[in-house]
Amino acid sequence: MPLLFDSQVTPSARRSRPRSPLLCFSHLRWDFVLQRPQHLMSRFNAVYDVTFWEEPLAPEEGVPVGLELRACARTGVTIATPRLPEAVQGDAREASVRDLLDGYVKTLTGELVTWYYTPMMLPFSRHLESRSLVYDCMDELANFKFAPPELLGLEAELLARADVVFTGGYSLYEAKQERHRNIHPFPSSVDRAHFEQARGGVIEPGDQAGLQGPILGFYGVVDERMDLGLLDAIARERPQWQLVIVGPVVKIDEAELPRRPNIHYLGGKTYAELPAYLAGWDVALMPFAINESTRFISPTKTPEYLAGGKPVVSTPITDVIRHYGDLQGVKIADSPQAFIAACDQALALDPHGPWLTEVDRMLAELSWDRTFRDMDNLIAAAGSRQADVPQSLGSTLTAPAVMPSSRRKPFDYLVVGAGFAGSVLAERLAAGSNKKVLVVDRRPHIGGNAYDHKDAAGVLIHKYGPHIFHTNSQDIADYLGQFTKWRPYEHRVLASARDKLLPIPINRTTLNELYGLSLKDEAEAEAFLKSRAEPTDQIRTSEDVVVAAVGRELYELFFQGYTRKQWGIDPSGLDKAVTARIPTRTGTDDRYFGDKHQIMPRDGYTAMFNRMLDHPNIDLLLSTGYAEVMDEIEAGHIVYTGPVDEYFGYRFGKLPYRSLRFEHRNLELERFQPVAVVNYPDPQLPYTRITEYKHLTGQDHPSTSISYEYPSADGDPYYPIPRPENQALYKKYEALADANPNVTFVGRLATYRYYNMDQVVGQALAAFRKLERRRRTQAAAPPAIWTEAAE
Ligand code: FAD
Ligand code: UDP
Repeated sequence: MPLLFDSQVTPSARRSRPRSPLLCFSHLRWDFVLQRPQHLMSRFNAVYDVTFWEEPLAPEEGVPVGLELRACARTGVTIATPRLPEAVQGDAREASVRDLLDGYVKTLTGELVTWYYTPMMLPFSRHLESRSLVYDCMDELANFKFAPPELLGLEAELLARADVVFTGGYSLYEAKQERHRNIHPFPSSVDRAHFEQARGGVIEPGDQAGLQGPILGFYGVVDERMDLGLLDAIARERPQWQLVIVGPVVKIDEAELPRRPNIHYLGGKTYAELPAYLAGWDVALMPFAINESTRFISPTKTPEYLAGGKPVVSTPITDVIRHYGDLQGVKIADSPQAFIAACDQALALDPHGPWLTEVDRMLAELSWDRTFRDMDNLIAAAGSRQADVPQSLGSTLTAPAVMPSSRRKPFDYLVVGAGFAGSVLAERLAAGSNKKVLVVDRRPHIGGNAYDHKDAAGVLIHKYGPHIFHTNSQDIADYLGQFTKWRPYEHRVLASARDKLLPIPINRTTLNELYGLSLKDEAEAEAFLKSRAEPTDQIRTSEDVVVAAVGRELYELFFQGYTRKQWGIDPSGLDKAVTARIPTRTGTDDRYFGDKHQIMPRDGYTAMFNRMLDHPNIDLLLSTGYAEVMDEIEAGHIVYTGPVDEYFGYRFGKLPYRSLRFEHRNLELERFQPVAVVNYPDPQLPYTRITEYKHLTGQDHPSTSISYEYPSADGDPYYPIPRPENQALYKKYEALADANPNVTFVGRLATYRYYNMDQVVGQALAAFRKLERRRRTQAAAPPAIWTEAAE
């Protein structure tokens, strides 16, 4: 088939490195509404020669069958559209597209990068050889109307082939994170300057300019994701409001659209025209239906509307709540009545009020340029990693080496879990007892919850929240000191209360700053606290501990809200040990911990774990659950550090765990907050604390990375919940564990204990000594036959 080349194809002017071809396979057309693919590909075209490969179209009259190539005048991206007669269908169509693709690829020079927006384009392109294969997963396509049945299988193949996966939002990331070892969330960003035009100085388009009354608008694709009933209800209940709908109607019948005099369907407009429409609106709407097709969406229009200076009213889309739900300018409502009430509130906002300052502060963190840069770095890293997979044990970006061949070797020990418990035992058994050890972990990395890595901006972060090492044990510090140099670090935390940042644990400074006092010494602070404390005969709960020491007001201010959020339970229902972790001080020592050793591994935790596991007797299998290997591995003994209830098939029921969701952000600031951790006890805020990692690691970097912690009932098991009934349930599992001499249960999850890292190391070293004693006793015992004879 002939190839058609358009003379307009012009290479981009910007060249900072040799340009390789990037072939982007997309189900969305280049000239359809301007979305994530266009934002990203126009930027990638600065460093790659980008070709945007579309689905076939029928040939236009007089134009031959073949590949149509044209250049986007604005961006220089090449758009490739196979032109095939409708009559060519099925296998023949796929074969034709493949021929066109192969012919085109032959004309490209340099190492190819392939980029997929849809798995449906794999069948004709899976044979291409590429340096890196990128899957930018924008939506859960399988949940969309008319999704083809083969989509799921093809997506599994795409995930298996991809070197790096991006997701268009956090919900999607959470849904897919277990399915790829190098997956990164990139919620949609915003072209701020473009939409800021809506804040003034644009002329309102003719089809909107004549409308009388408040205008509430929506722009975007109108499809099955829109709640048409909601739209109708708003228009019916508020006839004085004008509802403006800008965008093409797709996949649904136009006849289904609600029709009322105050609903105006203005049809699709270009990206350039959108700010002019937005400018005339009083409120921007996101009336999405809440169903499977919207479960994972992360609508780009949210930040666009906000950049245009408009308050937004949305139905409860998870990622909208997550990223924007705390803003005064974004209202979430889950019923028509609530939605209308929220629109009333949004209309009542001063268009230039403080809500807009808050919005602008948040938007300052978003930019497509940054998203592009971060993605580009990850693609480069994925490409270079391919070359050194065998040596990349503990790579800071992704999974260390996986050695499938090791499965067939017999091992002395199988260690399940590569966190502190598993890694200490593996190291001791391998180096201390010369035993052959296989370590498996279901995660794609070592280090368990202490795992740290550099994020896309190059800042070292703790993936699972701040991990600060502190211990009173010289032995434990010395043991770990074999695998890392230390950096002294004393942890300080501030709590945000009554518009102040106050030191926590409560100490004299906290009291003086909170109440405007000048307590001079320990005796005065003690007397002050005594006047407020409410001593009780028996301290049983986490409430008792604090109220007995500092009284109810300070308890409510610093502990009650935080604990309720963190644990999902009131402190009165939690064992006293939880809040007893935090002392009360009458002096001015504002350090969080009082331990003798307050130190952090100089090069990070992952580097330390790497050195622990770097032993010829240790094999490591990542992204592999115990259940996957239990029947395959020959091992004399098992060390199990996963959840004990899971090991026993939850036979007595699930042990309750508290989980967390971490939202990591990189900010183009040197410093975000004065200390590593700021706690937010306010029950109105959904998160408990914000961590800024550079304080912990001492890293010098022009930008900074922070994480928000959102407690949740679901998710990875992080915190065993100390309550008497949970302990009673654990005791039943412990009895099973004790009766199982071939398995050693050790660590936070396997012994259901709210242990710090040093305590887990201590527990693992003790478990090793016990195993050694048993081994020596067995080795020293006379042969069984002799024993029997003697008896
Ligand atoms: P983990 O680190 O949880 O490791 C267990 C490993 O086993 C995991 O990698 C898991 O993937 C793997 N696994 C589980 N089941 C299976 C299976 N069936 N198959 C294969 N693999 C499996 N401690 C401190 O001392 N200081 C702190 O500042 C601190 N901060 C913390 C902050 C947070 C948010 C959390 C959650 C914990 C914190 N801790 C802190 C506690 C610390 O994380 C733990 O004490 C320590 O990580 C426990 O190590 P572990 O090996 O027992 O468990
Ligand atoms: N806590 C609180 N307010 C604070 C800090 C802690 O209420 O500002 C309570 C809360 O219940 C928390 C517990 O004290 O879970 C222990 O705090 P720690 O910082 O030790 O928790 P971790 O590091 O385990 O998350």
